[in-house]
Amino acid sequence: MARTASILVAVCVGVMVLLPASIALLVHPPSLIRPDDMWISVWDHSARVVRRLSLQDYLVGVVAAEMPASFELEALKAQAVAARTYTLRRLANDAVRMANEHPGGAQICTDPSHCQAWNSREQLVGKWGAGAYLANVRRIIAAVESTYGLVMTYNGQLIDAVYHSCCGGMTEDAAEVWGRRIPYLVPVACGCGRRGVELGEARAVDNAYLLAALGIGARGVPALASGVRVAARTGTDRASIVSVYGVPVSAAQLRRTLSLKSTRIAISSEGGKTIFRTTGYGHGVGMCQWGAASMAERGETFDAILRHYYTGVRIQQITSGENKP
Ligand SMILES: [Zn+2]
Ligand SMILES: [Zn+2]
Repeated sequence: MARTASILVAVCVGVMVLLPASIALLVHPPSLIRPDDMWISVWDHSARVVRRLSLQDYLVGVVAAEMPASFELEALKAQAVAARTYTLRRLANDAVRMANEHPGGAQICTDPSHCQAWNSREQLVGKWGAGAYLANVRRIIAAVESTYGLVMTYNGQLIDAVYHSCCGGMTEDAAEVWGRRIPYLVPVACGCGRRGVELGEARAVDNAYLLAALGIGARGVPALASGVRVAARTGTDRASIVSVYGVPVSAAQLRRTLSLKSTRIAISSEGGKTIFRTTGYGHGVGMCQWGAASMAERGETFDAILRHYYTGVRIQQITSGENKP
């Protein structure tokens, strides 16, 4: 009886402990994760919970969410350093504002329109499939691990390491997007060009809807209406002001209102509709992810990629592993 009971206990232990442990090993090999004494609180806006994550685990989820896992390792490494720098600067400089803006006082969130995108293990298995998960997550862990503690600084301060999907040929000046000149976020040439056209889209918008969405209204339209056209462009050929029947609208506002992919816009009209043809994807400031992929394919290393997109920065180790700088 006692022997049967002990066998039963052994089987139960096997099922309860070893099986989940082996599954955990399969999906998240512990040997690849270094212990890390910095933990951050993350508002998961999809699951609507606050998560406590090590910085390492958080960065793996950010790189996995923000960049295709199929990109060259050097591009993934550049993304890991950008995400680490962005995170640590936000934690250091915006702590009070972040605590106020996130439920539960979390330090950062997973909403890409507010902080950075982040995917949980379950979301990644759903996105990639169980078969590809292990191979993909291993590459991303390698990108985070091999750049352990590396951040970008300018004049000794962590930089605002913003990035975007595809600039369409030249990155944008931060001053054009946020109205503030940032010396390391200035336009640079980018090799993502063809991808920018592929990622772009043509959006046909009914003119009556356009006026209503922008809050212009028919009475706001001057008598000498001149249709919808780009009235001013930035130095990198993006629209800065769009004239909507004579009413000037900032291209950034137009992009937000219509959820356009970028402000690199060409405008035409067709019947009662305005056609917005965009190139690229994102605000265009800082690192262009598709451009980073193209540099990595040409054999450039992650630090060369980062120095290309963030002008004049230093890449350095923060003082103690993944601790605060
Ligand atoms: Zn946030
Ligand atoms: Zn680009």
